[in-house]
Amino acid sequence: MNIAVCVKPVPDSKYYDQIKIDLVTKTWDRSGIPTVISDLDKHALEAAISLKEKHGGKVAVFTMAPPTMKDTILQALGMGADEAYLISDRAFAGSDTLATSNILAAAIRKAGDFDLVVTGNESDDGSTAQVSAQLGEWLGMPHVMNVTRLESDGSIIAVTAKQDGGSIDYEIGLPAVIGVTRKVNKPRLVNIMGILKAKQKPFNVFSANDIEPDPNFVGLKGSPTQPGGIASPEMGRKSELIEGTPEEIAKRIVDELYKAGIK
Ligand SMILES: Cc1cc2nc3c(=O)[nH]c(=O)nc-3n(C[C@H](O)[C@H](O)[C@H](O)COP(=O)(O)OP(=O)(O)OC[C@H]3O[C@@H](n4cnc5c(N)ncnc54)[C@H](O)[C@@H]3O)c2cc1C
Repeated sequence: MNIAVCVKPVPDSKYYDQIKIDLVTKTWDRSGIPTVISDLDKHALEAAISLKEKHGGKVAVFTMAPPTMKDTILQALGMGADEAYLISDRAFAGSDTLATSNILAAAIRKAGDFDLVVTGNESDDGSTAQVSAQLGEWLGMPHVMNVTRLESDGSIIAVTAKQDGGSIDYEIGLPAVIGVTRKVNKPRLVNIMGILKAKQKPFNVFSANDIEPDPNFVGLKGSPTQPGGIASPEMGRKSELIEGTPEEIAKRIVDELYKAGIK
């Protein structure tokens, strides 16, 4: 089975408080913030690597990101993926989910024939949960999201997809696109040997000219979704320093608790 996995590098959540939003250009300034693989994409990688171990074939990682994200992609190769495609071009800046999926689909088509495309259900940062289904549409493949179970005999995949109030079991002919949740598996850890091997694996870089995405849906101009108004919420909390003797402080705290309705 040849499997494509879409992996999005996202800011490490430990540093979310350092991300700034430019209120004029309405873009994020993530400079200096360490990047990690979006959490559900590790589950997508685990699903693909496990299927490859069972049925043979290869796992290729696809990432649309600036060239500085190479180290994050090496983590995906370190987990056990066989090759990587970094899709990077200034023309892609400002792409919304439709443009992102158009570009990823064009890169997957260009890289060869894949039996299965696996994505995270939603990313840690944008979290729109749109790219997976859009990829299915661009590639003309059946697609299922919210996947909590995945099995395959090599020619079809059987999945359970969570729905409101229950779940549905599907059997899908290949090729197909699936978006996985964290229930689907437990991702393996990356060890030092994995990272050393990752550096020897094929690492391809695609520009816009290499993949020929639909030119009407690329970058800011080709993105029908535009950010509306952006405002910074007031994050300050009301606080007061209570001073006095221990008895006075204790009485004041009890009075404030009563005032707050705690009895
Ligand atoms: C008008 C507009 C302008 C924007 N400008 C910028 C900008 O300048 N810079 C910027 O960084 N972002 C920008 N964004 C955000 C960008 O559109 C999203 O990062 C991207 O479209 C993916 O959306 P998501 O994270 O919500 O995907 P989701 O649908 O939540 O992601 C689901 C899965 O799709 C796959 N996936 C998603 N994105 C990628 C990717 N890039 N590479 C590989 N796999 C992926 C992953 O497997 C992921 O788990 C902009 C958005 C809009 C609407």
